[in-house]
Amino acid sequence: MIKSIINYKNPTTNKLKVSVTAVEKIRIEKSAVLKEKPPIEGIPFGKYFSDHMFLLDYDEGKGWHDPRVVPFADFQLSPAAVVLHYAQEIFEGMKAYRGPKGEVLLFRPTENARRLNSSAERICIPPVPEEIFMDGLKSLLELDKDWVPSAPDTSLYIRPFIIATSGQLGVHASHSYLFAIITSPVGSYYPEGLAPIRIMIENSDVRAVRGGTGYVKCGGNYGASIRAGKRAEEQGFSQVLWLDGVTRRNIEEVGSMNVMFKINGRIVTPALTGSVLPGITRKSCIELINSWGFEVDEREITVDELVKAAEDGTLEEAWGTGTAAVISPIGEVSFDGISHKISGGKIGSLTQRLYDTITDIQWGKTEDKFSWSVKVC
Ligand SMILES: *Cc1c(COP(=O)(O)O)cnc(C)c1O
Repeated sequence: MIKSIINYKNPTTNKLKVSVTAVEKIRIEKSAVLKEKPPIEGIPFGKYFSDHMFLLDYDEGKGWHDPRVVPFADFQLSPAAVVLHYAQEIFEGMKAYRGPKGEVLLFRPTENARRLNSSAERICIPPVPEEIFMDGLKSLLELDKDWVPSAPDTSLYIRPFIIATSGQLGVHASHSYLFAIITSPVGSYYPEGLAPIRIMIENSDVRAVRGGTGYVKCGGNYGASIRAGKRAEEQGFSQVLWLDGVTRRNIEEVGSMNVMFKINGRIVTPALTGSVLPGITRKSCIELINSWGFEVDEREITVDELVKAAEDGTLEEAWGTGTAAVISPIGEVSFDGISHKISGGKIGSLTQRLYDTITDIQWGKTEDKFSWSVKVC
């Protein structure tokens, strides 16, 4: 049951104008035929989808309305839809995990709901009430709970997103939107155990600039990042390390992960200056590290400092943080054609401890003193 629907008025201010316009129940339309589930071992990321999806419409003057869980199917969209031409689109990425008693668990889901609305504000998309986000997601997972795999380290990837659907050319905010949640089973990210990756520092393309949309999870950022990612892959690197768009000296993040370093005994990560995505895994790592009695310096880190630390051996550990891999140890970083090994290409002890702690909480294997894990069904 959805109790409040936003009647959104002002896309340029931070203030959400909330008014209850309707009380609507989530309509459930079950699929007549259920799909056969693909084997989870070796499953490619994001290729198979569960039987259903959650949808919610927005129309100007009416607000968000008609929440429903329906069979997974193609959308019908005007070829002039604003999303297709001007990328008025935002998304989230999260996972559902199978707990030891067969329960379905989410990791800090309200953080995703909040970040979606922070993204929405930047792209002039009307905010979705957190309650609707959560209720819609829960209804979908209850219906598709058999899609949450139970093999070790597997999960159900969840992709909530909002697209601008008005069929009218011209660069203006859309008058109608579609909020959708789809889910896709994912296998173990590290089938052979946690393994270090090689990354390449990108010094021509930039991902984001301050004042732009770097802190926003939007499709537009990704369109701009594909070329550098492709070049890095062609040279045998798994990710690009992005530098800031102004000085091209400051480290920002790695591919679609935030990045952290242990340099000379201190833990450092780029500060959230507007061009870095505020990752929920990043935030969780900082909170965990603090709870272990260490500080995390959120500050500027230049590529020169990093290369120097790698050369003089003070770069003890480096790792990426993000929902997909949770923690990705970085074993090698290349800059201007010169490669630098980190911690002898091995996994650092802090990196390993973060990975073990967060994944144990996500799969419900350990005491969760932060109450990060939320049982859905
Ligand atoms: C999603 C994302 C991250 C990681 O965020 P999490 O909430 O930890 O998954 C980092 N960088 C970019 C660019 C992202 O899109």
